[in-house]
Amino acid sequence: MIRTENLQFGYRKHEVFQNLSVNFEAGKIYGLLGKNGEGKSTLLYLMSGLLRAKSGKVMFDGKDMSNRLPSALENMFLVPEEFDLPAITLKAFVKANAGYYPNFSQEILEKCLEGFELDMDLNLKKLSMGTKKKVYVCFALATNTKLLLMDEPTNGLDIPSKSQFRKVIASCMTDDKTIIISTHQVRDVENLIDQIMVLNKKEIVFNHSTAEITRRLAFRNGQISEVTSENDETNIDIEALFTAVVSGEDVIKRAF
Ligand code: ADP
Repeated sequence: MIRTENLQFGYRKHEVFQNLSVNFEAGKIYGLLGKNGEGKSTLLYLMSGLLRAKSGKVMFDGKDMSNRLPSALENMFLVPEEFDLPAITLKAFVKANAGYYPNFSQEILEKCLEGFELDMDLNLKKLSMGTKKKVYVCFALATNTKLLLMDEPTNGLDIPSKSQFRKVIASCMTDDKTIIISTHQVRDVENLIDQIMVLNKKEIVFNHSTAEITRRLAFRNGQISEVTSENDETNIDIEALFTAVVSGEDVIKRAF
C-alpha cells in the first residue's frame, strides 16, 4: 500500500531520518508511537508528499509521492496536529472540498458526526479545539481515501471524546484501507490498533501486530513476561509495552 525506501531527511543540520525503510499494508490500523520529537509528524509529512526526502523515496500504490500526482493525492488524507478551518458552515466546507476526493461519502460523514454527537449545521468558526478536531476527523473519514494519516488526533479531546474517537475510527475501517495514527499518548489508541510501530532514535525499533504481541507477551499489573503456555493470553498494556520497547528491556528482545 505505502512504503518508504531508505529515507534520509533533516531540517537544516538536524537529521531526523538516516535510512528509514518501512512498509504499511492495507486492512490495518497502525499506531505510530514515539516520544515527542522522534519524527512522527515528519514521517507523516514525507509520506503525504508535503515534505521531500533528501534521498530515498515514498511509494504509494506504485506512485512516487515526491511527484505529488493528483491520482495519488486524491487517495490519501492527512489530519495534521494543528490546523485552521475557514469561517464557514460545515455544509459549505463539504461543498467546497468533497470534490477533490472521488470516493467521498456523505453517508460516512453523517455516521461519523453522529458518533461524536455532532450535526451538519455546525459553523466551523465557532468551534472549540476539541470539536474542531472531531469535525475534521469526520471529514477525513468521509473522504473515504485508501490511506488516512492522523497526527496526534486525540490531542485536545476529553476522555469521553477519546472513546467516541476509537469507536468512530473502528466503524469506518475496511480491508482496502490503511489508517496510521501517530501519538505519544499511547493509551489513546489502546484496543483500536492492529499493529504497533515504535519510532525511537531515528529508527522503527518495534513493528508487530497486536495478535503476535499477545501470542508472545503477557501483561499483568504493569509487568511484562513471556507467554509460557497457549492459554496465557492477556490484554496488551500498551503503556508498559511502549516503555519496555524504548528502554530496550530484555523481555522484548527475548520475545521477538
Ligand atoms: P514528533 O512528531 O515525533 O513529535 P517531529 O517530526 O515534529 O516529531 O520532529 C522531529 C524533530 O525535528 C524534532 O527534533 C523537532 O524539533 C525537529 N523539527 C520539526 N519540525 C522542524 C522544523 N520545521 N524546523 C526545524 N526542526 C524541526
